[in-house]
Amino acid sequence: MKKLQDNKNLKGKKYARLRRKRIWPSVIIFVVFLFLSCALITAVVGGFCGFIISNKMNLLTEQANQTGLQIAQRVAYGMSMEEALTDQRKDVIDPTMRHRSQVYVTDMKGNYVASTGKDAPDPDALWLIDLGNEYQVYGDADQELQDSVALEERLTLSVQEILQWCFMGDPTEYKNEREWFQATATSTRFWLLADTGTMMDLKYRVYVASELQLQRSDMIYLFAGGVMMLLLFVVLLFILLANAISVAKTQKRMTKILFTDPVTDGNNWPYFQTYATRRLQKYRNAKKPYALVKLRLERYQNFCACYGVDEGEELLEHIYRFLKARIGMTDLFARYGEADFGLLLTCEGLTEENFEVNLNRRMRTLMAELTGLKPEYKIHFHAGVVFIPPAEVEATKSLFSFLGKGREQVDIDQMYNYAGSALEETHCNDGCQIGFFNEKLLEDQAWEHFVESHMEEALDKEEFEVYIQPKYNPIDGRLVGAEALARWRHPEKGLIPPGRFIPIFEENGFITKLDDYMISHVAKLQAQWTIKKVKQVPVSVNVSRAHFSQEGLAEHICQLVDAYGPRHELIELEVTESAFFDDKDILIRTVKELKSYGFPVSMDDFGAGYSSLNSLKDIPLDVLKLDGEFFRGDDEDGRGAVVVQEAIRLARGLHMRVVAEGIEREDQVKFLAKEGCDMIQGFYFAKPMPVEDFEKQVERDA
Ligand code: C2E
Ligand code: MG
Ligand code: MG
Repeated sequence: MKKLQDNKNLKGKKYARLRRKRIWPSVIIFVVFLFLSCALITAVVGGFCGFIISNKMNLLTEQANQTGLQIAQRVAYGMSMEEALTDQRKDVIDPTMRHRSQVYVTDMKGNYVASTGKDAPDPDALWLIDLGNEYQVYGDADQELQDSVALEERLTLSVQEILQWCFMGDPTEYKNEREWFQATATSTRFWLLADTGTMMDLKYRVYVASELQLQRSDMIYLFAGGVMMLLLFVVLLFILLANAISVAKTQKRMTKILFTDPVTDGNNWPYFQTYATRRLQKYRNAKKPYALVKLRLERYQNFCACYGVDEGEELLEHIYRFLKARIGMTDLFARYGEADFGLLLTCEGLTEENFEVNLNRRMRTLMAELTGLKPEYKIHFHAGVVFIPPAEVEATKSLFSFLGKGREQVDIDQMYNYAGSALEETHCNDGCQIGFFNEKLLEDQAWEHFVESHMEEALDKEEFEVYIQPKYNPIDGRLVGAEALARWRHPEKGLIPPGRFIPIFEENGFITKLDDYMISHVAKLQAQWTIKKVKQVPVSVNVSRAHFSQEGLAEHICQLVDAYGPRHELIELEVTESAFFDDKDILIRTVKELKSYGFPVSMDDFGAGYSSLNSLKDIPLDVLKLDGEFFRGDDEDGRGAVVVQEAIRLARGLHMRVVAEGIEREDQVKFLAKEGCDMIQGFYFAKPMPVEDFEKQVERDA
């Protein structure tokens, strides 16, 4: 096989998880990185600023201390404070300080002693600049510092506040930015308390006016640092982005591989599961009804056997491409496996009432088009459809309430299974190509599941009961025979009629076990009656057609009967008419063998289905059981009577006895008696009954 088959078992959910798994780490790393980078840039730029300001503050403090020391020295040499200040002015080495340097001296209580200018510090306006070292600065007495910084009640200045302080002022009030920069950045002024040591015997306090200047070079360093950090950030961001893109690309590639069907080269089932679920659950879609369809190209295996697998897969690819062009724009679809496709069709405006008619038309057109794709191959399709009601339909009111309360509970696989059941049903109905899922189908499935999971246990526990329906001679009304019919007495469900479990057993093959069980029980009963020396009539047992494929069936039945030892002619075997259409050779052989063992054999349900006249000539049967359907209805025109007359004549001609089944009326009994029917089995005489009742009936009527 050139391509891989069926990867449907890989669930869509797992794929989604896988996809999420791959994208989330990148997203998380990206977000964490963004936060960390911002924090780092802020910290580094802030630290750098702090470093610059701290250096400047060190210098200013040193200069202020030097000034204080010089004044102290002069005072110590006997100068008056006024002279010391005047002299100090001349000694200032730094030319930039000269015109601005200002000193203000107070005594230890804060009373004015002398100053070099008109401004005065305010000893109460003390601020702390905390840059590792703590610097104490004082504002002007005229409140300049407080106003400009607007620090309200706080004492400590941060780097940011100092920067803010440096750049106070509105740039638009200046000619250009340069002027603004010079005017603001160079005019930040405060007073530093000079450290005069012990030279002035702690008599005076010397305040030196200082200015914190952020020069152009500082700003350039700061800017360069910032740019470098930004560059670093951009590079890292780029690496991360590149990584995220590569992850996304890998993911896309992986998604393509995971979501591609190797046969059709289109979307596969996991894709359908994922996106169909998403579509149904999307808020805006929740109020729309949908149809989930299982579309099957019938007899695909045969097609492959005739034309080869490659040709078969090409056909599937062709179908896929057609669906894509036809419904791919609006609806979702994918190959499920082998030649089955899942379709999710939008059904806007449809209700539970008009849904079937509409979808029937729609699917019929689609399937006709598909069939016409390759007319030379004579392909044909069947489909099963499930209606998915809008989410707003209240579960209790909806006919489809069994589908779940809301859209959020919709399980695509389950829906697809339901559609599958509807599709299987189409095979039971000839000519039907499209099946619709309904509650009855679900109940049937549940019942089938129940039967299949309990049948073995039921057989072991002997829950199957033998009911017996007598057969009467229509002329003298004597009980001349009987048929054993199975009933299932379930401990919880009560008495279950055969119509509810026999077809399931026939389907799954369990019927052969039940037939053996019934044969054994009837043989046991006959043996007991022989021992008890009570009246006995032949009792027939149904042998399913499934049994006839078994080699050595006659011998097997013989062994079952002989285990209890009744006379063989007391056990009649009813073979249903449909069995005559299977392998005829085996059937003829088995019937002959059974007869050679002494078991009477009858053809059950004669006339119910297909004509088995042909079989009658080849198979030496003892009894012909006319199906109850012959006697249904009024038969006003008498045509039914003619058929029955001829059937009886035919049987007699072949030396077979005739039993008429399903006789409920007296006129029917009279008619059959007149026509020479040997036995009558019907509610007119008796219904199937438990063994004890039958024993009494035999004693009375036989
Ligand atoms: P069948 O073998 O043709 O059995 C005759 C059926 O017709 C019985 O239905 C019986 O109750 C019913 N019948 C008899 N007289 C009348 C009448 O006057 N009116 C109506 N309406 N029905 C009448 P039952 O017991 O429900 O069995 C149905 C079928 O199930 C049987 O049809 C037989 O094919 C199958 N079956 C029952 N037990 C066994 C079994 O142990 N093994 C096999 N293989 N099939 C069995
Ligand atoms: Mg029967
Ligand atoms: Mg019958």
